[in-house]
Amino acid sequence: MTLPVALTLNAGSSSLKFSLYDIAGEPAQMAIGLVENIGKQPRLKATLGEAVPRVERELTTAEASDHKSALATVLALLRKHFPEARAGVVGHRVVHGGPHYSEPMVVTDEVLAELNGLSPFAPIHQPHNIAGIEAARAAFPEALQVACFDTAFHRHHPRVNDVFALPREYYDKGVRRYGFHGLSYEYVSGELKRIAPLLHAGRVVVAHLGNGASMCGILGGRSVASTMGFTALDGLPMGTRCGQVDPGVIFYMVQQEGRTIDEVRDIFYNKSGLLGLSGISNDMRVLESAGVEAADEAIDYFVFRIRRELGGLAAALGGLDALVFCGGIGENSRKIRRRICDGLDWIGLELDHARNDRNDRVISTDFSRSHIMVIPTNEEIVIARAAKRLLNAQPAVAA
Ligand code: ADP
Repeated sequence: MTLPVALTLNAGSSSLKFSLYDIAGEPAQMAIGLVENIGKQPRLKATLGEAVPRVERELTTAEASDHKSALATVLALLRKHFPEARAGVVGHRVVHGGPHYSEPMVVTDEVLAELNGLSPFAPIHQPHNIAGIEAARAAFPEALQVACFDTAFHRHHPRVNDVFALPREYYDKGVRRYGFHGLSYEYVSGELKRIAPLLHAGRVVVAHLGNGASMCGILGGRSVASTMGFTALDGLPMGTRCGQVDPGVIFYMVQQEGRTIDEVRDIFYNKSGLLGLSGISNDMRVLESAGVEAADEAIDYFVFRIRRELGGLAAALGGLDALVFCGGIGENSRKIRRRICDGLDWIGLELDHARNDRNDRVISTDFSRSHIMVIPTNEEIVIARAAKRLLNAQPAVAA
């Protein structure tokens, strides 16, 4: 007997995250894991269901010299543990879907060419996402490949929130406020619809606070504004990314300091944010327990920017019915949630400290005008659901 499954892949610069879903019914996760440090000192980490001990081991360079060999290693592991599984579809996380893709797409040669053409918009992520698609096409020539875009959820932004005040021609060239983390927002918004349909129909701000961080204003289930813009660099400070800075800083670094554009990019993407401000770590857990002034200052800035953006997003939504936290920090850090929410009664938010400390789903008081919630995100299942949907929509092939 064969079991229909969907494989999901999220290919980063030096990592390949994967998960396997049983798609006979509503997608159910069978396995999840990643290969990290591809091409250097690769490691494999995987959870293959509850009955099997967690796998964690070094790989030889040959086992993961690039995305293609890393995928082959992952597939060998999955085939060994799930011999009855048959992947008819592979769902890929793709950072950029450009101005047009507002839904997941079946990857054809034309779609792949278009995604390649978007690489200049996301040079750090898109080429790796495409490498993942190409590796999967080679490994599963018979399977459907489906691309799910981080930008898609935001594609219905009103124009006023889609443009920059640059010469008009740049909008036509695709220089727009795309917004990212769309798979996470889609999941959280869908969960809200399931558990609190009236809130979902209202004015919601979701704060996705992980190593990457952004916030999204959602009206009636549709994104109307996001803190991220043309790239995943804008908005909130992140683990190592700066978030919003005055573009004049780039001119200063290049013209006065004589840095190259690649150096500036490296500073903005890899040396800034919590790491840059603290000089200690990009990891919130480390900063929370550091007890050092620079770590506290980094946290102060993180919290300050979130509160500031919350005010801006509430203005864009015309009010606020719910604030929802997700992502590693949003789901786990009671302290950060408390620091964000305390003193926000002017916007209708009143945190219940006991509920917050218990990590409840609803953490506002019963008297709070707006709800505060924690909804753990799940980007993989959004990909698995889309993969299943598009697989089922394919015309049946005559035997
Ligand atoms: P990514 O964006 O890479 O998916 P995650 O969503 O896993 O990242 O979030 C990682 C961040 O979450 C790290 O800064 C980590 O310190 C933070 N985090 C995870 N658990 C906790 C916790 N219990 N308290 C505070 N921060 C936490």
